[in-house]
Amino acid sequence: MQENAREPSGDTFRVCSTCRTPIAFGASYFRCSVSTCNRPRTALYFCSVPCWDAHVPEQRHRDAWAEPVTAPTRAEWEAELARAAESCSKAPGTREPISAASPDRNEAAMSEESPNRKIVSPPAAESVPREILVVVSKLKAYIRARSGFNTSDATVEVLSDHLRRLCDRAIDKARSAGRKTVLDRDFRSVLDE
Ligand SMILES: [Zn+2]
Ligand SMILES: [Zn+2]
Repeated sequence: MQENAREPSGDTFRVCSTCRTPIAFGASYFRCSVSTCNRPRTALYFCSVPCWDAHVPEQRHRDAWAEPVTAPTRAEWEAELARAAESCSKAPGTREPISAASPDRNEAAMSEESPNRKIVSPPAAESVPREILVVVSKLKAYIRARSGFNTSDATVEVLSDHLRRLCDRAIDKARSAGRKTVLDRDFRSVLDE
């Protein structure tokens, strides 16, 4: 699974998560019925049912199906973005309790067996603070010990983003396995991909 092409460009709303075929604005595509495959940061998009099939063994779904969906038009997408930006800029201080409650609410909504459900609102991944997740002094000491080189401060932001992406994917693994604890093996299987 690659992390690029998450955002629309030109006429392309998304690209197929399996074969990278562009999915145009307003086009039909398929999404997975499993909520973890539809999180805002890691959502999967499929151009066809065979492409959807291809991700099932990887995600180890037990009970899943492909849902036909229509991509938004560009105008709808831009309206959606504008709404999201507006709700973010409003009341940043009140987002904490909302985001704490929303994943469960989201999951409940996603597990309803309605094939025509639209993508539900995101579990506020953006509201999680983007903190530094690595110990800067130890990272710098390691690089110095290995190479004698200095390390720029900005590297820890990149590495923290990378760790967040790994964490999100490990969370998906744990969730697909029906666990609420992320284990070392979830990270191992992410790193083996
Ligand atoms: Zn495809
Ligand atoms: Zn899936």
